[in-house]
Amino acid sequence: MKNIDSFSFKGKRAIVRVDFNVPLDTSFAVTDDTRIRGALPAIRKILSDGGSAILMSHLGRPKKGYEEKFSLIHLVAILKKLLGAPVSFSADCTGEKALQASKILKPGEVLLLENLRFHPEEEKGDETFAKELTSLADVYVNDAFGTAHRAHASTTIIAKFFPENKMFGYLMKSEVEALNRVLNNAQHPFTAVLGGAKVSDKIPVIERLMDKADNILIGGGMAYTFFKAMGDNIGTSKCEEDKLETARKLVALAKSKGVQLLLPVDSVIADIFSNEARTGLASSGTIPEGWMGLDIGNKAVSDFTEIIFASKTILWNGPMGVFEIPKFENGTRKIAEGIAEATSKGAYSLVGGGDSVAALNKFGLVEKVSYVSTGGGAMLEYVEGKELPGVKAILG
Ligand code: AMP
Repeated sequence: MKNIDSFSFKGKRAIVRVDFNVPLDTSFAVTDDTRIRGALPAIRKILSDGGSAILMSHLGRPKKGYEEKFSLIHLVAILKKLLGAPVSFSADCTGEKALQASKILKPGEVLLLENLRFHPEEEKGDETFAKELTSLADVYVNDAFGTAHRAHASTTIIAKFFPENKMFGYLMKSEVEALNRVLNNAQHPFTAVLGGAKVSDKIPVIERLMDKADNILIGGGMAYTFFKAMGDNIGTSKCEEDKLETARKLVALAKSKGVQLLLPVDSVIADIFSNEARTGLASSGTIPEGWMGLDIGNKAVSDFTEIIFASKTILWNGPMGVFEIPKFENGTRKIAEGIAEATSKGAYSLVGGGDSVAALNKFGLVEKVSYVSTGGGAMLEYVEGKELPGVKAILG
């Protein structure tokens, strides 16, 4: 494995797996360029060394071959603008077109390849397809943390064809470093804040964090499965009936490990799932019939923020309530503000997952936390302790 910092790309063509899976509006304009900006440091390093960069990515979930709305051609203009360098486009990521385009590429130039997932071979991890991508370049850089948990041709399989010349890009490197800092090198107290709709998605994460964190704060829809498991009344709140036993086990596990697993004592309740709902405040274990908990209440906010303020390391994944609806955004906003304040006083905070990052954006707090992870699924799998195929392919 090579290090992007010390590697000289002079005269080399580098094929870079980036995560350009960005949202587009109906006229195909990029509505959030965070992911593109995340890849710029690696691209700039390659170009300033006197190399050229061939960028490959997926965009959306095309079903069968080319679909205009998933074409990466929509990104050429914004990429040119952000980079300030010439960017050409190949209408196919492999084959004669791509090969010719890569051959005429000059130092300092960028070639963007069409969506990898227009070829089903990409997600199948097809070796021949990976080899075709290999033929375009001399060096492989993986800078796509968001897909590092997938053993796809461009994220994993391709690495074996560059045994000497493979490396992480800056984004990937910083993601792995940030997660390792929290998981292996945390200053204590270490608090994990978990939320979101479903507990089933987060069970392995909660289990692993029992060995790492001092406090696990649980909000969002997933909290109600825990209340139900303890025999409480949760009205029509979200509940996974088949996870009641698991919830009880997690509570017992926390007790036996001396980890503080904290649930929101009160909730903002609503009669319908809408901003037009009638709302009220209730103890989370005594929610009346016909009402549902859609946000954590004031007492829960103060319990949670007190612990957050006393923490040296904070990991946050998943909103505390239905923050997309203004009436139920307060809990998520207050927790985000609390994490920002703790960070300003010296705590290290890592926030990941699409919804938590969207919440930070909504509340203007992106710059106020220590690290924002670009990978939702990849981050959760890393926290679970799984070896990510994309990471392993570079390290191995
Ligand atoms: P996840 O994808 O599991 O991280 O869940 C994120 C989603 O959970 C967001 O869209 C929230 O609106 C939703 N959510 C958070 N709290 C609740 C709740 N109390 N009831 C229903 N959905 C919730």
